[in-house]
Amino acid sequence: MALRQQAAVAPDTTERLLSGWGRTAATRATVRRPRDGEETVAALAAAGHRGTIARGLGRSYGDAAQNAGGTVLDMTALDAVGPVDAGGEITVGAGASLAGLLTALLPVGWMPPVMPGTRFVTVGGAVAADVHGKNHHRDGSFCDHVTSLRLLTPGGDVVDVTRESDPDLFAATAGGMGLTGVVLAATLRLAPMPTAAIRAEHRRVPDLDRMLALLEEDPARYSVAWVDMTAPARARGRGEVILGEHADADAGGHAAPGAPRIPTPRGLPSGLLSAPLVRLGCAARYRMAPGRRSAVEGVGPFFFPLDGIRDWNRVYGPGGLVQHQFVVPPGRADVLRFALDRVAGSGVPAPLAVLKRLGAGRGMLAFPIEGWTLAVDFPARAHGLARLLDELDDRVAEAGGRVYLAKDSRMRPEMLTSMYPDLTRFSAVRARIDPGARLRSDLARRLELA
Ligand SMILES: Cc1cc2nc3c(=O)[nH]c(=O)nc-3n(C[C@H](O)[C@H](O)[C@H](O)COP(=O)(O)OP(=O)(O)OC[C@H]3O[C@@H](n4cnc5c(N)ncnc54)[C@H](O)[C@@H]3O)c2cc1C
Repeated sequence: MALRQQAAVAPDTTERLLSGWGRTAATRATVRRPRDGEETVAALAAAGHRGTIARGLGRSYGDAAQNAGGTVLDMTALDAVGPVDAGGEITVGAGASLAGLLTALLPVGWMPPVMPGTRFVTVGGAVAADVHGKNHHRDGSFCDHVTSLRLLTPGGDVVDVTRESDPDLFAATAGGMGLTGVVLAATLRLAPMPTAAIRAEHRRVPDLDRMLALLEEDPARYSVAWVDMTAPARARGRGEVILGEHADADAGGHAAPGAPRIPTPRGLPSGLLSAPLVRLGCAARYRMAPGRRSAVEGVGPFFFPLDGIRDWNRVYGPGGLVQHQFVVPPGRADVLRFALDRVAGSGVPAPLAVLKRLGAGRGMLAFPIEGWTLAVDFPARAHGLARLLDELDDRVAEAGGRVYLAKDSRMRPEMLTSMYPDLTRFSAVRARIDPGARLRSDLARRLELA
């Protein structure tokens, strides 16, 4: 049903310099913070010729939630959390964070079925990037558990979109990076979580072959691996695999959404992320990883280990960081090997890398396809980085893979067509829903999506 609402109230407005989590390429925009659906309608209607884009908690790494010279809608005030119904469904405001949801839901035995590596993302951001977690191979991505979206269309209508009511609009919005409308609320199917604890197993693995075999063969619900990108050629792909299942009984590992967070010290020395120091740090981490260790862990430490350090992105200094995350089909592990060799041989420091298995995906611009995904963090100003990543992009595209737009800040626009074959369908939905291109972001302009 389409309800045209009155554009009445002007929400809070400020001029701000915005960047993503990577802290690169900040741009200035007029930021409006609507308090409800009506104010969101008003804010969208008031946007000028540079258009509008919604923003959640700014945890995408690049420029997806920026709009230079235009309007950005800070959606975090729309954070209402409804009751859980008997079937485990809940309707939540798009600005509600996963942290807030966990705090409300764990005590009553539920949790969001898909959680990315940080709990500081909003439901709107999770829909727009169709985020995946450590269980994608088992449970799919965030939007696979969304039964309905309340969407403010660029034309000013508020519509409830389901896979049945408008399959194309739903599939374009799931992973559509905010370019099909502003999500006001979402109805989710929750996962039962009786104990707020995870039975985890940590295993050190000496090379890529054994890492892939373990990730492929182990039936664990959650799996993820840390990869040492600095390992010598004979040990390429060594690291630590972490597996997890919901614990049967609460053995003391508690939900950590409220756990203390260590601040990142100010004024860290600039050489901290030099290639030799990163190599030493990674080697030490590998040596300290347990051969095999089982433990009951809280939801926080298991799902969001980086959240324990507040503003850890500042470790990369004023130049910021780039995360390159790609996925390739299951038979193309050769691209993983290529990436490991090229990164290790490039001299570009790569302090953190994470490998996961993904199942199939559904959204037109959503990232997941069945296969292997590798996410590597780099200092944004590292010498040789641009060439290295362009080369990786070419390999990934040739293998039928793609780069994750929620992490991207530098990809060449021409890569998009080969990486995202549903781009034409996505553009057709955009042409229908937003013929005047009112929804625009820096990412959309950079990649020629709008
Ligand atoms: C430490 C860390 C770990 C991460 N781990 C993972 C992971 O494991 N898996 C994964 O998939 N991602 C991961 N991410 C990425 C993150 O989950 C996504 O970028 C997510 O979109 C961020 O949500 P946000 O609320 O911060 O949105 P923002 O970054 O503010 O915006 C992201 C996109 O969502 C759109 N958007 C936001 N709100 C709305 C709305 N109400 N309506 C329409 N569009 C909207 C924006 O326009 C933008 O295109 C990680 C990020 C960090 C920093």
